[in-house]
Amino acid sequence: MSENLPTTAEIVILGGGVMGASTAYHLCKAGFKKVVLLERESFFGTGATGRCAGGIRHQFNTEINIRLSQLSLRMLDTLEEETGTAAQVRKCGYLFVLTREADVVSFQKTVSLQNRLGVETEWLNREEVRTLAHPCVFEDAIAGSFNAEDGLADPHSVVSAYIDASRHLGACCLTGCNATGIKTRGNKIVNVQTNRGVIETEKVVNACGPWSQVPAKWLGLDLPVQPLRRQWLMTNEIPQFPKSFPFVIDFAASLYFHREGPGILTGMSNPHQPFGEDQNIDTEWENNHVEKAVQRMPLLAEAGIQARQAGLYEMTPDSHPIIGQTPVDGFFLLTGFSGHGFMQGPFCGKLLSELITEGMTKSLDISSLAFDRFEKDQLIQEYNVV
Ligand SMILES: Cc1cc2nc3c(=O)[nH]c(=O)nc-3n(C[C@H](O)[C@H](O)[C@H](O)COP(=O)(O)OP(=O)(O)OC[C@H]3O[C@@H](n4cnc5c(N)ncnc54)[C@H](O)[C@@H]3O)c2cc1C
Repeated sequence: MSENLPTTAEIVILGGGVMGASTAYHLCKAGFKKVVLLERESFFGTGATGRCAGGIRHQFNTEINIRLSQLSLRMLDTLEEETGTAAQVRKCGYLFVLTREADVVSFQKTVSLQNRLGVETEWLNREEVRTLAHPCVFEDAIAGSFNAEDGLADPHSVVSAYIDASRHLGACCLTGCNATGIKTRGNKIVNVQTNRGVIETEKVVNACGPWSQVPAKWLGLDLPVQPLRRQWLMTNEIPQFPKSFPFVIDFAASLYFHREGPGILTGMSNPHQPFGEDQNIDTEWENNHVEKAVQRMPLLAEAGIQARQAGLYEMTPDSHPIIGQTPVDGFFLLTGFSGHGFMQGPFCGKLLSELITEGMTKSLDISSLAFDRFEKDQLIQEYNVV
């Protein structure tokens, strides 16, 4: 709790993760003078963003997700020029390993689509996959896809970059400030209520990530964004580990590995995880995960666990984000990234800022991501979400 709460704002952004921070920066850059961002925790980026695995990739199977990543990853490359803080990008490449015939057929289509959109993902045969994935053991690999431009970036650096740059441009970004309600008159927003007082405003962005349903409910909107626990662990140093190891995904098992400092970060999605806000480590699932991880990478048996983390994906029914207006005048959504929002945050904050300032997005057509697609039954299907 540092600055005082302003009594008025041109726009109030709820949530200080990557989405809120990027939106604040891009709105300030577009000329907004009184941007207020509210984060209820003591630090920015401690929600999903700070718990994420840091993966950045072009390899998706819908055009809209590929485009969002293409444009966002370029912004991560130039974040330091733009804001003064680097995103710590490490292009180790992403290798999807396929062990089921059905996935091979689907990924062949996906790779063609990526290539057509200018993404240079390569198709690898069994031997190439096994060599690249070493020291993971993939006797059952059939084929795989690899993109050398995919990799990792640092979530905390990205959030700090946008928060610091927003403040430099005049935004008021507050921690320890919990939004508790939104008052409307007719169909228009009048104010935002918080634990520290009221801010008069006509515009609000809901960037509350896994908790986005709550502000929508205040306005009578049923937002189909559900929190879903995911977890990972990080090992101690493994000295004999190859420096060039890529981000490896055993697609059928939803199991992944990448280098993190001197050790390995590995995660595995629990397909039976129910929706809910529990962010404690599920030890039973961790045991199952470790067993599968050691089978794939026997070297792990020698390493101790240094850290573990659980956090929440913000899932939508079609695993695509919801970006844009709502039936309530001035209430905007930037949420529902379903496990890949960190990498798409930079560009999506820019897109929302365009929509707010100009009434439309000029960088990319995102009409397929509108909130009303659910009532119109126009869902999009994404296959590459792990
Ligand atoms: C384990 C895990 C691994 C992941 N791995 C990856 C990955 O490798 N690559 C990738 O791109 N993505 C990954 N993701 C997904 C990614 O982290 C999210 O999609 C992204 O961070 C969402 O950002 P956000 O700003 O919408 O949400 P958040 O970062 O959760 O920010 C929302 C913020 O809103 C605040 N808030 C909520 N309610 C209120 C309120 N009433 N008032 C004020 N503040 C409020 C919260 O405290 C929170 O800080 C992963 C997620 C998890 C959990």
